[in-house]
Amino acid sequence: MSNSPSTHSKVVHQTVALLTKHGKQTLIAPLFREAFNSTIVHTDTFDTDLLGAFDHSVERTLTPSQAALKKAYLSCEATGCNQGIGSEGSINSIFGVGLVDEEYLAFIDIEKKLEVVARVHSGLALGPIRADTEISLKEQLSKYNNEQAWMLSKNKLNDATQKEQWEKGLTANELLLRFKDVENIDVYLEPDFRAMHCPDRQTVITKCAEKLIEQLNSFCPECGKVDFDVCHAKVRYVTCELCTLPTNQVQERAKTCSACGFEESIPNVKTVGSAFYCSFCNP
Ligand SMILES: [Zn+2]
Ligand SMILES: [Zn+2]
Repeated sequence: MSNSPSTHSKVVHQTVALLTKHGKQTLIAPLFREAFNSTIVHTDTFDTDLLGAFDHSVERTLTPSQAALKKAYLSCEATGCNQGIGSEGSINSIFGVGLVDEEYLAFIDIEKKLEVVARVHSGLALGPIRADTEISLKEQLSKYNNEQAWMLSKNKLNDATQKEQWEKGLTANELLLRFKDVENIDVYLEPDFRAMHCPDRQTVITKCAEKLIEQLNSFCPECGKVDFDVCHAKVRYVTCELCTLPTNQVQERAKTCSACGFEESIPNVKTVGSAFYCSFCNP
């Protein structure tokens, strides 16, 4: 039971369902217990990979945000809870940046018809490993967190016609043991991005859970609903000091209500800026 005197503490129930099969409950449950005294009811009755998998064996048709919401509703269906959480991660290779992990956590209340989606993104310093000696394998694996697991390609490297087949969830220690004292190894590895095998993703998922809790604790001063957050702000650009056209500098974002659209006013917000960022004055 929550002891908080605030009526706001009632938003998140004592039990909240979570659908995941990749161990994310161990990251999310302690945070929800601390923030709301809630217990996470974990379910894995639905194979979440059917909605899209990291190895591209199942094509994704929903946006990550939609997929997270879908899983939240499925978690309620599976457990009978009125509130549920769904999680979705999307890892993309962005030219010039590298791998970017985007994590989404959706919270829903089916009675109040509440949907809150938190999103956090971060770069991942992970990449494939190709090794033809034991020493090279050891050296490359040592650059990464020892808890990071890998997928070992079971195909011959030169056979591009075959569909890639993987042995998944192999730790660095397991790999080093397997190829110990083996001459002329021919190893191609890719990171196993499933949450329980990827410490870097776990960090981003934890941040995303903290962001979701922040959104669930942030009340609109106008309508009293939760999810009063800068992520809902309209993107506006600072105008040019010389020609008054919009520059390419984004204006500071104000907390905005996802329900009624009310926007907090930021005192002394900078709306006029340097002509340096103006594509008209400084093309
Ligand atoms: Zn509002
Ligand atoms: Zn200008």
